[in-house]
Amino acid sequence: MSQVPTKILLDESRLPTHWYNILADMPTPPKPPLNPQTGAPVRPEDLAAIFPPALIEQEVSSERWIPIPEPVREVYRLWRPTPLFRAHRLEAALGTPARIYYKYEGVSPAGSHKPNTAVAQAYYNKEAGIRRLATETGAGQWGSALSLACNLFGLECTVYMVRVSYDQKPYRRSMMETWGATVHPSPSPHTQAGRRVLGAEPDSPGSLGIAISEAVEDAATHEDTNYALGSVLNHVLLHQTVIGLEAKEQLALVGEKADLVIASCGGGSNLGGIAFPFLYDRFAGDEVEVLAVEPEACPTLTRGRYAYDFGDVAGLTPLLPMYTLGRTYVPPAIHAGGLRYHGDSALVSQLYHEGHIQARAYPQRAVFEAAVLFARSEGIVPAPESAHAVRAAIDEALRCKDQGEARTILFNLSGHGHFDMAAYDAYRSGQLEDVRDPGEAIARALAELPEAPPLV
Ligand SMILES: *Cc1c(COP(=O)(O)O)cnc(C)c1O
Repeated sequence: MSQVPTKILLDESRLPTHWYNILADMPTPPKPPLNPQTGAPVRPEDLAAIFPPALIEQEVSSERWIPIPEPVREVYRLWRPTPLFRAHRLEAALGTPARIYYKYEGVSPAGSHKPNTAVAQAYYNKEAGIRRLATETGAGQWGSALSLACNLFGLECTVYMVRVSYDQKPYRRSMMETWGATVHPSPSPHTQAGRRVLGAEPDSPGSLGIAISEAVEDAATHEDTNYALGSVLNHVLLHQTVIGLEAKEQLALVGEKADLVIASCGGGSNLGGIAFPFLYDRFAGDEVEVLAVEPEACPTLTRGRYAYDFGDVAGLTPLLPMYTLGRTYVPPAIHAGGLRYHGDSALVSQLYHEGHIQARAYPQRAVFEAAVLFARSEGIVPAPESAHAVRAAIDEALRCKDQGEARTILFNLSGHGHFDMAAYDAYRSGQLEDVRDPGEAIARALAELPEAPPLV
């Protein structure tokens, strides 16, 4: 078919030694998180009740290259470097002159990119003498990643799993328990936050917002327990940059340079992970473009407002500068559960605001159509979240075909969809529906933004 190989593999010895910290190079760094009571910037010591010192330091560091501790690299070697694929068969199916590459993070034990940060977070907490981590999970991908990581570093792990997912995705729970985690359906009777909800509504299906409140309360009320978050925060995006750093080297091995980098965007760690190392080149004058893809049901970048908002529904977190739909916005129950967060990473938000990142939203049927075409040409069944990037890559490749342009497109295939086959069933049987325009619900939630200084 071509001289260019299908899989471009890096030797284990080329595993990155440092993470890339984009704060060192951003033209304008994001505004600081604010304490909602005082309105003053959050002090590092305010976070010490739930995060270890090393992660608090990384959250605010402006050092460009941050060394990856050797024990973390040792665990990364279980599945990293991950393969970069040239999508020869997809290109042929589309008849496009574009060259399509995808980085595949589904080869991790948990099946997504999330272990890249889970492993680092477990390591730093263990170093700080913590015995247990508490977290929340919606669709189950983050809970799985943290369960795996805690197990590998000898930590206990408590996962508050949104009740509906707990009931609908028993095998995600089973996977977490296999790695030794304790999984509670949320709302649970184990926390005040959970008991309060159960008191009012015993059959509550739960929400990510409630589960976050439970996990944070668990961590804040136990000396030996910390909290871990799977996206949004600066240190999480930092850890994910191994994806883009490897991809750049892999492209260079075949004499390529990306013109366009695409990733789905929930809280932003997947996008930041693959794209930030390419933005490093952009800040130095390169013309590479970055495209974030989100669901129409939760269009944070494309229809949100750039403002200070709480990270959780209850309003327990600091005020974060971000594109937000309003913390009270409850997105429709689309199948890409990992893309249903109301806000976005401060780093991604600021870069988008300045035009270094573009964004686009898709309805879910178009996303599944792309996922099936991808599965039938490349073989891999994508996670519904990842399929958003597949949709955009296909559309961009078709645009190249129209315009007779041979661009090099790179996207991140952030995970496989083996736990999402019910969603594929719904698509194939015609039961998967596009949601109604969420404009009114978004407007209502935006009207409830907290009082805070404007960002723009
Ligand atoms: C969580 C998840 C995402 C979204 O990740 P963010 O880092 O929050 O943007 C994308 N793809 C997969 C497979 C995921 O599990």
